[in-house]
Amino acid sequence: KAIKTIKEGKAEICLKIEKVFYNPVQEFNRDLSIAVLSIFTDDYKVEKLNRAEKKLSKGLNNTEGTNEVSEVPVTILEALSATGLRSIRYAKEIPNITKIVANDLSEQAVQTIRENVVFNNVQNIIETSHDDACMLMYKHKHPIKRFAAIDLDPYGCPSIFLDSAVQSVQDGGLLLVTATDMAVLAGNSPETCYCKYGAVSLKTKCCHEMALRILLQCIEQHANRYSRYIVPLLSISADFYIRVFVKIYSGAFHCKKTTSKLSMVYHCVGCDNITLHPLGGFKPNPTEKKPEQMKAYLPNVPPVGEFCVHCNQRHHLGGPIWSAPIHDEVFVSRVVSHVQDNPQLFGTAKRIEGVLSMVREELQEVPLYYTLDKLFGRVHLETMPMLVMRSAILNAGYKVSYSHASKLSIKTAAPAQVIWDIIRTW
Ligand code: SAM
Repeated sequence: KAIKTIKEGKAEICLKIEKVFYNPVQEFNRDLSIAVLSIFTDDYKVEKLNRAEKKLSKGLNNTEGTNEVSEVPVTILEALSATGLRSIRYAKEIPNITKIVANDLSEQAVQTIRENVVFNNVQNIIETSHDDACMLMYKHKHPIKRFAAIDLDPYGCPSIFLDSAVQSVQDGGLLLVTATDMAVLAGNSPETCYCKYGAVSLKTKCCHEMALRILLQCIEQHANRYSRYIVPLLSISADFYIRVFVKIYSGAFHCKKTTSKLSMVYHCVGCDNITLHPLGGFKPNPTEKKPEQMKAYLPNVPPVGEFCVHCNQRHHLGGPIWSAPIHDEVFVSRVVSHVQDNPQLFGTAKRIEGVLSMVREELQEVPLYYTLDKLFGRVHLETMPMLVMRSAILNAGYKVSYSHASKLSIKTAAPAQVIWDIIRTW
């Protein structure tokens, strides 16, 4: 007998066992993932076919095994599936999927998934699996067994699943990762953050974007160990969690560029100012025969001093964080169009449109942000209206945007000196 029936999207699931995890607030997370996967799977098929054709034209074996877009298999793993709701929605709402493996370690969860798969009549697409997520992924690390996409939606921190996940995604495949341990990522426990994510978190006004960037660097570090690297498509901070969508590619040469995508973070305890210091850099090497060869160099930025130049207070050191772009603007625009064209498919369509519109406008070249309340709170002044602050920055000749992660955010490349000068005139 069902204790609860849940309808979400095109899925209807029954919960007989209370212990199996279901969170209605995550509908936005599931809707967004469906929108992203709908666009991604289209691209993936074309990309795979192009690669197969390239190999053929070079006289190499077509290991991709495909000659037409319709032949490209798209297999997805939901490694931590709980009720199976997410997998069932993927099966019913995303065209193009060949097979989904819905896995969970809990026997009760797997029983629930099995019943719901039959109830929704998607046995032809969904295969249930009762295994430890890591063990299952290690069994799929051979290139011909890899998944086109792997979804990791654990309780808390996802890092224990990353080593196996980065090896089991196809070249050009997608990794979808949720983290809900926001206290750790947002600076309440920097030491724990280092142990789990390999980066020190900081308690700052921009902690939600910093959390995204810590998770991205963590995935990149895991991928680099296997000569693979990430290309972020979309990175979202919402409610009590963060969610990133990254493509994974293989290439030892590209991995050398990782240090230029990472930075240490200097946070002033006095005025809250943040300064980034890149770990490395790369530029074309004119002495190499091949023009695409790059030369590593130490970035030409002055070292950040022990004391802040604005208020002479000490710095806290955090990071490393991912300091390269966290979204692909073109991809995000296509997801927005897809949701606008099919609002009936998504219970949270309006919210997705709102969040992604902000994401699209974020200044990609500027990591992190100020917040209006913290800036004025520091100097005990009444807060300036956002519009006035933004106009002042524009008048000073600098671009400005919001971050989707905070309503009071100010993203700008304007130097801190310019911001303090604006505040002095208030
Ligand atoms: N993705 C689900 C959704 O959208 O409704 C929610 C997943 S829930 C947050 C996390 C699930 O991970 C639980 O059902 C738990 O049993 C399972 N789990 C925890 N550790 C696991 C492991 N090592 N391998 C596989 N499943 C695991």
